[in-house]
Amino acid sequence: MNYHNITHDDMLNGDGLRVVLFVSGCSLCCHNCQNPQTWDKDSGIPFDEDAKSEIFSELDKDYISGITFTGGHPLEHYNLDACTSLAREIKEKYPSKTIWLYTGLVYENVQNLDIMNYVDVVVDGAYVDGLRDISLKWRGSSNQRVIDVKKTKERGDIVLHCD
Ligand code: SF4
Repeated sequence: MNYHNITHDDMLNGDGLRVVLFVSGCSLCCHNCQNPQTWDKDSGIPFDEDAKSEIFSELDKDYISGITFTGGHPLEHYNLDACTSLAREIKEKYPSKTIWLYTGLVYENVQNLDIMNYVDVVVDGAYVDGLRDISLKWRGSSNQRVIDVKKTKERGDIVLHCD
């Protein structure tokens, strides 16, 4: 897996202050996507042990709420195994930290992936430029949902994450 960036103390991609991993590659090509430079899966640099250490040293900090996987698209087939392993390791090592994941797919189509056993919140759905709303928190267009994965699994119906 390649990635473009790891941002620290990020306040835009989930609640609290977070470390954010921007992976490379997205086949969804939403019109007016904010990160088209990440679409090519071979762009960026390889996700290696140094990158992992960078993430873990951020998660070691008390004030960091957790990690967000975004991109690009973490659920592309060439990213999925690496993201799943990383999410699993993070959940085992930092059980009190939250894991957020952005996907351009709808939750109902990805809910059975193994990675969803470790993810706390999913922001789902493609970015639809005609539904763009800058007043929305954590999402760009109004079709996208911020979903509480654990509560959704328990209830068997979508439960949105509260601000
Ligand atoms: S899913 Fe996200 S990264 Fe991919 S094209 Fe759409 S907005 Fe861009």
